[in-house]
Amino acid sequence: MDLYQVLGVRRAASTAEVRRAYQKLARMLHPDLNPGDPQAAERFRDVSSAFAVLSDPQRRAAYDRGESVAVPSDIPEVGFHGFDFSAEVRLGAAGFQEIFGNVLRRPVAAAETGATPGEDLQQSAQLAFEECFQATRRRLHLVRQDRCPDCDGAGEISLTPRACPSCQGSGQVRSLRGRMVFTRRCGDCEGTGAIGRRPCGRCAGEGRVMRSEWLEVQIPAGACDGSRVRIPGAGNAGRRGGPPGDLVLVVEVRPHPFYRREGEDLYCDVPLTMVEAALGAHVEVPTPDGPVTIEIPAGTQNGQRFRLRKRGLPRLDQKGRGDLYVEARVSVPAVSDDASRELLREFARRNPADPRRALNAGLPARPKVSS
Ligand SMILES: [Zn+2]
Ligand SMILES: [Zn+2]
Repeated sequence: MDLYQVLGVRRAASTAEVRRAYQKLARMLHPDLNPGDPQAAERFRDVSSAFAVLSDPQRRAAYDRGESVAVPSDIPEVGFHGFDFSAEVRLGAAGFQEIFGNVLRRPVAAAETGATPGEDLQQSAQLAFEECFQATRRRLHLVRQDRCPDCDGAGEISLTPRACPSCQGSGQVRSLRGRMVFTRRCGDCEGTGAIGRRPCGRCAGEGRVMRSEWLEVQIPAGACDGSRVRIPGAGNAGRRGGPPGDLVLVVEVRPHPFYRREGEDLYCDVPLTMVEAALGAHVEVPTPDGPVTIEIPAGTQNGQRFRLRKRGLPRLDQKGRGDLYVEARVSVPAVSDDASRELLREFARRNPADPRRALNAGLPARPKVSS
């Protein structure tokens, strides 16, 4: 066996040429790059022995003289990282990052194998105004990701361990790039060479499947427009054993024709005639519990409020109810006959008043306009 032929160099090759030739061959034949290939392993041993002799000036001289040279047992173990790719980087189109990226990058899947919590889901529920006074039940149609029944959410199914078919049990797979051969950790068995499980076919490894179901939800008394009712665990199932998300029900309350709501309190306008406001009256007002007659005192002003205790909405903390405020809206009569006009003029003569006195008193003196 001619050591120069093994490395494919001339007898006059310089040490640098010997080194380059070795590196080039080692890149193709290194066991790290050729797992399970006995021919490559044997050629790599030969190439390494030849290099060990020809790279050492004393041994090379002895070999050249025809002496038998003991191949040193301490052939430097050249790992993948020891190679100089700079020549390839200059020569080939593939850059250093591209070459190393493919070989050394951790499989992306590794980051995705962990458990992740399920997403929250949101739905809206519309309530009539009156429905807010007591707890209401709603049946919701829910389409959600549920735990896969075939793999119980794991995304994979356990098997009796067997050799990985992707790498024939070696834990590594080879790929070619031009004349260069690379190996990388087998992603299917994560480099172990054995397969103890397979991805679940039903959920494609997600651990969850789409499901449509009905869910009955209770909306508490006192809910208002924009209230959110959270039902823990009714959102999407988590991935690979992660906890499920929640279902969030957003309450929408349709407005009422005459009640306005502020928190648990209600507001309601009550129209009064001018005479009712002036002389006082008993008027019937609506409340959520049915009509109630209230006493309007004489001399009630427009916008004046009367409070009816505990006629509002139930508090969410179930501690009683809010109040109902009745607000006076005094309406001015349309006067269309002479007798009524004369009555009002007579009223004004008997009750002289200047409602704008305070307003006018507050005005500054008019500035003199000079010509
Ligand atoms: Zn599954
Ligand atoms: Zn494998």
